[in-house]
Amino acid sequence: MPESAARTFHRLGTTEAPTDTRRLFGTAVVLGGSIAGLLAARVLADHAERVVVVERDEITGSPAPRPGVPQSAQVHTLLPGGRRQLDRWFDGFSHEAVAAGAVLTGPENLRSYYNGRLKVRTPDIDFLSSSRPFLEALVRRRTTSLPNVVPVRGRALGVDLADGRATGVRYETPEGETVLQDADFVVDAMGRSSRLGDWLASAGWQKPEMRRMNIDINYTTARFQRKESTPGVTTALAFWELDRLPAGLAPAMCSAIEDDQWTIMFGGFGDDKPGRTPEEFRRICRALPQAFADAVEGEMIGEIQPYKQADSRRRDYHLLDRFPARLVGVGDAVAAFNPIYGQGMSSAALHASCLSEHLRSTPDLSAPARHFFALQRVVVDAAWQTSATPDLALPHIDGPYPRGYHLTRWVTTRMIDATVTDVEVSSRFNAVTEMRTHPSTLLTPGVLVRTLRAGLRDRRTAARS
Ligand SMILES: Cc1cc2nc3c(=O)[nH]c(=O)nc-3n(C[C@H](O)[C@H](O)[C@H](O)COP(=O)(O)OP(=O)(O)OC[C@H]3O[C@@H](n4cnc5c(N)ncnc54)[C@H](O)[C@@H]3O)c2cc1C
Repeated sequence: MPESAARTFHRLGTTEAPTDTRRLFGTAVVLGGSIAGLLAARVLADHAERVVVVERDEITGSPAPRPGVPQSAQVHTLLPGGRRQLDRWFDGFSHEAVAAGAVLTGPENLRSYYNGRLKVRTPDIDFLSSSRPFLEALVRRRTTSLPNVVPVRGRALGVDLADGRATGVRYETPEGETVLQDADFVVDAMGRSSRLGDWLASAGWQKPEMRRMNIDINYTTARFQRKESTPGVTTALAFWELDRLPAGLAPAMCSAIEDDQWTIMFGGFGDDKPGRTPEEFRRICRALPQAFADAVEGEMIGEIQPYKQADSRRRDYHLLDRFPARLVGVGDAVAAFNPIYGQGMSSAALHASCLSEHLRSTPDLSAPARHFFALQRVVVDAAWQTSATPDLALPHIDGPYPRGYHLTRWVTTRMIDATVTDVEVSSRFNAVTEMRTHPSTLLTPGVLVRTLRAGLRDRRTAARS
């Protein structure tokens, strides 16, 4: 009997560092040196004599936003599912991050509001908050300090394919074009705009189809100096049912990050772009729960940073009939979601786990990495289900709606309502949205009964008041 997706997901989320690694490659090459590429390089370092990471951006010593990651000035929170993987691959990562100024928010420091109501406190919450460049710099330092990882500055121009497999990569440096001929394994980690599909098509291979959902979301992020070094609330999150957004706000989040700062974001769909001036930004925060109002008491640091993301997208490599051997993709290059769910870096970390499991499975390296793509599909499907399915409720999205969508939506809406008051439903729901467990773990009679009971209690309370 095939293994259930929930079981596979659970195994991929293991926190055990692998001990059964074998050397499989002379040279492995990773194209793109951001979160997904660095994590893939960390895994490959267990299996290759050298791992070359080709990144087009110049990486300076101090963490700073860079052109290749245009979203880097926006709020980036690491979900528990991803944090556990970072601790798995880099021993003591969270401690190091916190010692350097990142903030770990536990249940007592979190305030989460749904449709204006404060949600019950649940155990097992631990968001790691920092700026995106800060987190990436730590991951980069850990990865590039491995003796067999070689970072190279260059813009990838193509993957060489011969005899049904990837054999090399071509990239451009300030000195001119370079061909790395002896690649034994190649990873595409070039982000959501990766051109791997075009390269494959022009070499006569199938191009993976891209599925898109037009989410059309506008982000606005600003930073403020923190008045207290250790505030009581370190993360506050306010969100609403997607077709009941107050003043176009969807959602709002504030997090304490390094350098005694707050980072605060607002989301808005379509024409809604809340908080684009300092006055409006402060005004919105003062109308939100107290943690937001407190956070804007300090001085605003730098400019308000806007960002627009048009779509969620996925490239389904597992559906291709023909694909070169010794070639895979990871991170946003494979699937990039609506950022309000904060899944991107954790997905990338779980893709690294897929790569590790695949490489430890004595794979047939002369064939396409179908085992890897099957594992990765479990992670992508789970993240897509958690984000793209609720996004279908947005008024500007017109499908395609999966079979049973209206029932799924009805149940999910009741369940999210129940997360406000029911600790058990809330814990189980959080475990899914934090990428610790698979979405199917929510569909148990126990959770469904508790959901319905919470709804009844709510209605009785509303009728009495
Ligand atoms: C507004 C916003 C907010 C977000 N918030 C969160 C959050 O809170 N939590 C979270 O987990 N995720 C969040 N994400 C998602 C997260 O940013 C991405 O999922 C994550 O960065 C994916 O990493 P990646 O390495 O796959 O791709 P990217 O970070 O996009 O990196 C791609 C890399 O490839 C390089 N590259 C591209 N082309 C080439 C080439 N030809 N040659 C060499 N190098 C190349 C680029 O320079 C870049 O370094 C957010 C995204 C957005 C847009």
